[in-house]
Amino acid sequence: MKKLLCTVLSTVLAISSAAALNMSAYADSANTQQVSYNYWYNSSTGYTDENVHTRQMEKLDRGLIAIKTDGGVYLSWRLFDSEDNIFGSADKNVSFNVYRDGKKISEVATKTNYVDSTVGTNYSVAPVINGVEGEKCDAVTVYNNSYFDIPLSKPDDETIYDPSGNELATYSFFPADCSTGDVDGDGEYEIIVKWTSSERDVGSPGDPAYSGTVHLAAYKLDGTKLWKNDIELGKNVYSSAHTVQFLIYDFDGDGKSEVMCQTSLGSKDGQGKYVSNAAQTDEEIKAITDEENSTADYRGYGRITEGKEFLTVFNGETGVAMDTINLPTTRGSENGVDYGDDFGNRSNRFVSDIAYLDGEKPYAIYLRGYYFGRNGKQRTSIAGISWDGTALSPTYRFDTQKGQEGYYDGAYQYVGNGNHNCTVADVDNDGKDEFITGALCMEVNDDNEFRPKWCTYLQHGDALHIGNYDPTHTGFEFFTVHEDSGTNSLSGNDITLDFGMSVIDAETGNIMFHEGASDDTGRGVMADVGASGYYQIWSAKNSARQSNGGTDFTTATSLTGRNTPSMNFRIFWDGDLYDNLLDGANITDWNGRNMSNIFSAGNYDCVSINGTKANPSLQADLFGDWREEVVYPTTNGMALRVFSTTDTTDYKIKTLMQDPVYRSGVAAEQTAYNQPPHVGFYMGKEVFDTRTLTSIAVTTQPT
Ligand code: CA
Ligand code: CA
Ligand code: CA
Ligand code: CA
Repeated sequence: MKKLLCTVLSTVLAISSAAALNMSAYADSANTQQVSYNYWYNSSTGYTDENVHTRQMEKLDRGLIAIKTDGGVYLSWRLFDSEDNIFGSADKNVSFNVYRDGKKISEVATKTNYVDSTVGTNYSVAPVINGVEGEKCDAVTVYNNSYFDIPLSKPDDETIYDPSGNELATYSFFPADCSTGDVDGDGEYEIIVKWTSSERDVGSPGDPAYSGTVHLAAYKLDGTKLWKNDIELGKNVYSSAHTVQFLIYDFDGDGKSEVMCQTSLGSKDGQGKYVSNAAQTDEEIKAITDEENSTADYRGYGRITEGKEFLTVFNGETGVAMDTINLPTTRGSENGVDYGDDFGNRSNRFVSDIAYLDGEKPYAIYLRGYYFGRNGKQRTSIAGISWDGTALSPTYRFDTQKGQEGYYDGAYQYVGNGNHNCTVADVDNDGKDEFITGALCMEVNDDNEFRPKWCTYLQHGDALHIGNYDPTHTGFEFFTVHEDSGTNSLSGNDITLDFGMSVIDAETGNIMFHEGASDDTGRGVMADVGASGYYQIWSAKNSARQSNGGTDFTTATSLTGRNTPSMNFRIFWDGDLYDNLLDGANITDWNGRNMSNIFSAGNYDCVSINGTKANPSLQADLFGDWREEVVYPTTNGMALRVFSTTDTTDYKIKTLMQDPVYRSGVAAEQTAYNQPPHVGFYMGKEVFDTRTLTSIAVTTQPT
């Protein structure tokens, strides 16, 4: 333990100097900031300074929230990466002066929440470093509840006609997945909501198979609606969780998040203009007339298997389309048959996330196609697309199909290895993000090629999680469940598949633990709920296991049988360092015997979304301290209700949004079968037990 303390201490001192040497920037903006990360924690070596990387990310405000509770007023605010001397780049401890109605009431040194037993009108906080007070944040008023509402403007009901003009049905819109970014650069997150009226599964769309349409709309947390009109994707973009992927991120580094989404003929931006008009470099797209936009109908008998497919970047503040290009991950041959069928199922399977592929700037990753086909064909196409403020560029390409951009001899062996979700992390600690979708991990290699880093060939699955839970194993543990059985021989070796669940070393692709099952293993979680071991894994077809470090997994008897925990999201809600679990509208906590309910959005007239997948619209560290907020639609779909915990915590941790793995996880939440974001750094209690000593030692260093 002593060695660990020394290592942590010296590391904290070293982080800021290493960070200064390793600065990266892709645009010069006052609205961005450098953020550090060090995921290479190991129980014997602690953190070491050469493993620190930095990157440019969005700049956030203090995020102070004040909520009236039985005990007075609960206050909670952000710690920045630059103020965190354990997980961030700070070399000094930061405390905070707390102000009620302009008068200082406390100095808080060890946490970023505070309960004022007197109920004031407004509150603000200011950081204090070495006795010097920094900038006080704007004063906030007190919420009467642990939630606030964003009232929504629901789109009008829509009547769906088939291509011959026969009326099929009339549908009402309901808020679905949300995502977040700071679209106006004021340091506060906005919420982008996806509206669906009749969303279909491209695999089993029902009859008739015509979907409703999709709208996107943006709101500030105070309820202000941005954009003149909703972005309307129109009838030529199929409304399916597998198809519509929308990414919110500051791609060009100007401090304001953009919106990126697939579009087609008929898609309109936030000013009501067809997105094809916004094409900057593609003259053919730019030449498309309004007449062609308004009349084009690619729906055939329902699912879309033909016609134009675009990718559009929108200004997040105004909704204005800024560039439109042909979707780099092409449908290819007629009806998308190269993906495995001719009826628009396998060719309409997408996932997306954000990755700093080159270590310098964020790329939108769009993956298309992850199944083996029913017609003897299969294809996976992946693009890494940048936006520089002027044009979209599909810089990085990978394709398993000969003749397609990104194909190379040997690429075909990687077909069929994608999940209904994806995750991003710098798994080999070289400063560049990798992109993992199920059985396949992609990287930009030393030759600047976008290539598989590893592949387990275990094919397709429905759930995945990444984390840094095991301090005896350097780097990330990656968990996934499997839908396939049989043998995959495309690598040249016979790989046996038997469903079940696996923990995989995210750097090497080596399987640390695998347990088969008798059937499609459709759900699974990796989390540390505090029960036993470093962390626990369980699935719909496998009993819970606990990790005892490395490849040592034993049955977690306390989590089996009647006590089997939910299998959906993990979340930080209460004040300890363990994961809570979220399923539907409920959050549960390990109480020493089983998981017990500690929050139910259903008690506040809210519902979960996505049917049996039962997610919140959004889970993210939107404001306040490092605990996560959840957003659910109200039962009538007329508002988003944003919930905050009011539990206090003794732990002082930087905002999770300045942790790159977590931030990419939030960006990916909207994708297909939603998965929760995970934190990239190791959060074991022993790291914090060194804090007091570290803080004292560091602040007495000569400056
Ligand atoms: Ca904002
Ligand atoms: Ca931007
Ligand atoms: Ca890497
Ligand atoms: Ca929070």
